[in-house]
Amino acid sequence: MEARTVYLIKLGELTLKGNNKADFEFVLKRNLRATLKGSRAALETTHGRYYVRCPPEAEPQVEEALDRLMGISGWAKTRIAEKTIEAVCAACVDEGKALFDGGIRSFKINARRTDKSFPLDSYDIACKAGDAVTEAIPELRVDVHHPQGTIAVEIREKAFIYGFGHRGCGGLPVGTAGRGLLLLSGGIDSPVAGYMMASRGMKIDAVYIHAYPYTSEEARQKVLRLAEIVGRYSMGIRLYTLGYTAIQMRIKERAPEAWATVLLRMAMMEGAEKIARRRRSKCLITGESLSQVASQTVENITCTQSRLEIPVLRPLIGMHKEAITRKACAIGTYETSILPYQDCCVLFSPPHPILRGDPAEANRLYESLELEAMIETAVEESVMEKCGFP
Ligand code: ATP
Ligand code: MG
Repeated sequence: MEARTVYLIKLGELTLKGNNKADFEFVLKRNLRATLKGSRAALETTHGRYYVRCPPEAEPQVEEALDRLMGISGWAKTRIAEKTIEAVCAACVDEGKALFDGGIRSFKINARRTDKSFPLDSYDIACKAGDAVTEAIPELRVDVHHPQGTIAVEIREKAFIYGFGHRGCGGLPVGTAGRGLLLLSGGIDSPVAGYMMASRGMKIDAVYIHAYPYTSEEARQKVLRLAEIVGRYSMGIRLYTLGYTAIQMRIKERAPEAWATVLLRMAMMEGAEKIARRRRSKCLITGESLSQVASQTVENITCTQSRLEIPVLRPLIGMHKEAITRKACAIGTYETSILPYQDCCVLFSPPHPILRGDPAEANRLYESLELEAMIETAVEESVMEKCGFP
């Protein structure tokens, strides 16, 4: 028989979800199968544990998929042994050698016995397996308080033994919390905002506002790349690019300079709301963080959302830039976000923007710009690209 690699998958928050559990698991399985498609990997589920079996050549694809799947708290490549203490000890020794080769010098055994018919309890399993490992590899010592490595033993349908556990993304499976439309710029913040909503189970589409030739093709490619990266966590993203050059020119010609950014934001939101309606998205999502820039004071945020019927979610609103940046590094968007190509807002931003806009004034100015038809055209002519689909 062909050798198969086995991965053990631990469900995250899912296990807490009571009645919704079946729905959540249904979506999680669907997502997992979609990301494993084409890898000849098979999914098996029993008693709150999922297993993926695959041929060894599919390991990179499977591991990449497990690293990015929302709704699992962890995964491990696992050995499977017969349910005898001898077989369990032998597998622990193999796993101990792998840890030792990886530079680990102290370890403990973490044993769990779900199958109570197994004659030894978890304490006895840990003692016997620990002894077997230290006997075979004397340089590897037991340290139950601060081990460098852990060998997990789970006695279930079979005995599962693994030394290298990986953390998953956690959160909830994408597709369990409706659909939202992310306003995606080329900056650091909005990709993180999209990731965070996806991690709460939301399916994400995205809108990018482009102002060619004031913003370059490179800037657009950068946003596409960001959508690709976030899309790999969110089961894909449909990215809509809207051309706002004429709208930006109109604002520059007719509006008081200090108001340009707030008015542009209002126009962006309005275009995004139209796309959201078409896609039956339930909300808009932005990367705004309170007081980070002039347009993100609570007064200006009130102006920018004042014409919308749809809610705007701002998952980063109370986060500091350092924390957002750390998250961007962790999810892999940071390197792309800091590429130099500017998005439109920077080029058209006034030197002394208004800090505390009054919504009534904002709306009076906005209406005088007569943007409605131009926004309609931008939406009609928008281009959709699929990014990061499995
Ligand atoms: P980011 O890092 O996400 O660009 P920022 O700190 O640069 O955010 P702003 O430029 O004020 O802040 O943008 C605030 C939010 O408005 C962004 O997080 C994003 O959701 C949205 N946004 C800004 N520019 C664009 C754009 N060109 N296309 C689509 N959405 C945009
Ligand atoms: Mg920006």
